[in-house]
Amino acid sequence: MSEMPRPGPFSPRVPRAHPAEQPFPYPLRRAWVEPDWRRLPGYADVSTGDWESAQWQRAHSVKNLRQLKAALGELLPDSLLASIERDQAERATMSMLLPPQMLNTMDERDLWADPVRRYMLPAFDDRDHEWPSHPLATRDSLHEADMWAVEGLTHRYPTKVLAEVLATCPQYCGHCTRMDLVGNSTPQIAKYKFQVKQPSRHEQILDYLRRTPSVRDVVVSGGDVANLPIRVLSEFVSQLLDIDSIRDIRLATKGLMGIPQHFLQDDVLSGLERLAAKATRREVDLAVHAHVNHANQLTPLVGKVVRKLLDMGFRDVRNQGVLLRGVNTTVSDLLELCFTLLNRAKIMPYYFYMCDMIPNSEHWRISVAQAQALQHAIMGYLPGFATARVVCDVPFVGKRWVHQTESYDREKGISYWTKNYRTGAATSTTTRSTPYPNRAGSTGAASTSSARRSPRSAEPAQPCSSTATWKASSRAWLALSRGSQAVS
Ligand code: SF4
Repeated sequence: MSEMPRPGPFSPRVPRAHPAEQPFPYPLRRAWVEPDWRRLPGYADVSTGDWESAQWQRAHSVKNLRQLKAALGELLPDSLLASIERDQAERATMSMLLPPQMLNTMDERDLWADPVRRYMLPAFDDRDHEWPSHPLATRDSLHEADMWAVEGLTHRYPTKVLAEVLATCPQYCGHCTRMDLVGNSTPQIAKYKFQVKQPSRHEQILDYLRRTPSVRDVVVSGGDVANLPIRVLSEFVSQLLDIDSIRDIRLATKGLMGIPQHFLQDDVLSGLERLAAKATRREVDLAVHAHVNHANQLTPLVGKVVRKLLDMGFRDVRNQGVLLRGVNTTVSDLLELCFTLLNRAKIMPYYFYMCDMIPNSEHWRISVAQAQALQHAIMGYLPGFATARVVCDVPFVGKRWVHQTESYDREKGISYWTKNYRTGAATSTTTRSTPYPNRAGSTGAASTSSARRSPRSAEPAQPCSSTATWKASSRAWLALSRGSQAVS
């Protein structure tokens, strides 16, 4: 046996690392306190008891300009009020609905610039005047209805489905990707109405899942499950839990942040607790998916709900935000949001979606290149498990990490994507490349018809997106789309 080499002379190792100055300074500076609602004229006399009551929040949710003015008083500039009014008449795809809790997360000192106001109360002057919509922007831009297995159940991926269990929310977001279906009609958009009544629709969904053991994962969404009576939600989820093949259930709710008071009601807490206990017995992972786009929207009341859910046995509470220019598309906005989610609210950063190509959304949308740059810029700060993935939701393909383009023409703003499976509406092989145009524009009116396509009527893949050279990009995409066929 050879001898071990003898240790030679060595230099002492001198630690040199230090907390270098970083582009994003940490720790967080924002105080973790509930903003004082009494600073807003309409809520000056509201007691803590009322504020923390879900019934009070729902009864006082802002549904029109008069109520908005009453809540904000002189803090709401006349110019902004007029611009929101014009937007409601000429551009809005969602009607106005804001619980006071959400209004209270806006900075009343500069409502024009406030990030929450910019997406929850869009103003006409926020929109792009020349090209408000991509020429191929559509209602149901992800073609979820084209992949319905039964009404309201989108079967796009091999093992997971999306159940749209209702079409309302406790708040309406200006950029809602389901603007086709969700909420009240606006002067621009007549909403699609489910044809099958809710109890039968839920039964059809459950029946399909009982017959389809290849599905293991169900996203229970809408709309927002915070608007489903807890009795109905419990019944539906409990029946999902009875299906042996279902292993993951995720309840999607922006209301967790928009009206956390809902989840702190005794009947809601006990209903959720029973579901969590059953999920534990059945060894199913039950989680909640939130939708928070800015750190300012996270408050101790939100954190209180999350801690209760985790204590009950929910596997996780995760966040899926949407990248919206003017709201959160800077590195510091995204990192502050992720750290606030993780440290304070105990919510796991999960996804940031590029904004889908719905009508009148071009002012919010960023390019794939910008999304790639944001993904790069947030790497390394957060633990790997909490580093949100920035994704592009490509119609008929699915969510793709923004660095997964097969090719990308930055000049024309068109990226190409592939998938490795067949969607529920697929007829072709899985290897075809799907184009996805970046921001391009014309004033072409978006469809306002309320007619949704019937299940399984696959149609050509639709674009999304953003970019620099709009006119060139628009022409390029239109030429491409004329020559392309359905991708599925
Ligand atoms: S909560 Fe979700 S479904 Fe409801 S309006 Fe907002 S984005 Fe749309």
